[in-house]
Amino acid sequence: MVTMDKIVALTKRRGFVFPTSEIYGGLGSTYDYGPYGVALRRNIKDAWWHAMVISRDDIVGLDSAILQHPRTWEASGHLESFTDPLVDCRACGQRFRADQLEDVQCPQKPSVHPGEGPNCDLTEARQFNLMLETSLGPVRDAGSIVYLRPETAQGIFANFKNVLQTSRRKPPFGIAQIGKSFRNEITTKQFIFRTREFEQMEMEFFVPPDQAEEWFLYWLDERMRWYVDLGLSQDHLRLRPHEPDELSHYSSGTSDIEYLFPTGWQELEGIANRGDYDLRQHAQYSGEKLEYFDQATGERYVPHVIEPAAGVDRAMLAFLVDAYDEDEQEGEKRTVLRLHPRLAPIKVAVLPLVRRDGQPELAHEVHDALRPLMASEYDEGGSIGRRYRRQDEIGTPWAVTIDHESLENRTVTVRDRDSLAQDRVAIDGLPEFLQRGLAGTG
Ligand code: ATP
Repeated sequence: MVTMDKIVALTKRRGFVFPTSEIYGGLGSTYDYGPYGVALRRNIKDAWWHAMVISRDDIVGLDSAILQHPRTWEASGHLESFTDPLVDCRACGQRFRADQLEDVQCPQKPSVHPGEGPNCDLTEARQFNLMLETSLGPVRDAGSIVYLRPETAQGIFANFKNVLQTSRRKPPFGIAQIGKSFRNEITTKQFIFRTREFEQMEMEFFVPPDQAEEWFLYWLDERMRWYVDLGLSQDHLRLRPHEPDELSHYSSGTSDIEYLFPTGWQELEGIANRGDYDLRQHAQYSGEKLEYFDQATGERYVPHVIEPAAGVDRAMLAFLVDAYDEDEQEGEKRTVLRLHPRLAPIKVAVLPLVRRDGQPELAHEVHDALRPLMASEYDEGGSIGRRYRRQDEIGTPWAVTIDHESLENRTVTVRDRDSLAQDRVAIDGLPEFLQRGLAGTG
């Protein structure tokens, strides 16, 4: 399996991920996404949105604000209990997560875990709230404090009534949202696996109480299948039900989809049966009735909620890790990202073999014809071998080469990133050829 260092190096070298504020020395564990990174993320989010919203009649979308009324976080329980246990070291002044001391090193020599060095002097653990605070409006006082949302879900619960009334849906139905979330994590680590600013893809599925278990099992299957359909190896995925003592206060069942990251099995997505906790809490704190009334049967109830909650950054990391491969071509080492064509930032590269004899002009014509249909990149710089390797490293599934024969009979070669097969294809048939490949029917 690939190491994290290789992923970090490739994503920096090829413009997927940059450390934030690098020109100022960085801002610890915060990342910016470069041209190919942003394209990959957009494709991941589009695939999720397509699976959740576009392809279904029973889920609608929402985009709620990052800043919510502070009562939201009282109702949700975040103000009270969204905490991690924290210890301070009186000797070095560093702070650590009390439950993860085994995973980190004391910054002083000799290199040991915090608490194990001769000078270590750890305090008792205390609870540290992970919500990031800011203030709203021109006056900074206790009344102006608001929080950057630590999850997107609460914006969905707060809009339950609005969506129910306007979308003409009835349980079972869901509300899906993609957006940034913020957590003041005590320790960040593993590149983009755990950061303080990240993006989530969450869906709250509201169901009649007696159907909760059935829908919980349904969503476990659906979500697992989504990752496999987009190319993650089944052997690197597993479902792990939470132990009773791990369950959140609201949850009557949670399973994590775990992925075998280079650092071991870790959570990729959580799927929780949240019962009616959230709607009841918000009803109590807001005074609004958050329930469903079925006019046909006269039945009134508070729906139960099944929540698949995924992270864009973690999914991106898993897709990159799974896609990374090294092989040898004609005695030379090749690095290739075997990304699913739907996720690949660039679908096709258009490459004139030489920079003369009318080849660049014809290549531009081909590129211009493809670009309205898919992400296409034109590249004429350097040897053809180097250009292929560059495209392999960013995961481009097809490279189209324009050569002297192309000018004679308007055909091109299409090189397949994975099989390395070269097909001769008529320029007129090229869009269809590539679109069949993208649809998985080529
Ligand atoms: P963890 O146990 O790893 O802290 P969690 O159980 O608190 O995660 P959830 O609240 O279930 O996470 O959030 C749902 C998803 O959001 C996670 O599965 C993950 O993909 C993503 N996520 C949560 N926290 C972070 C973070 N700090 N950085 C990046 N992604 C995150």
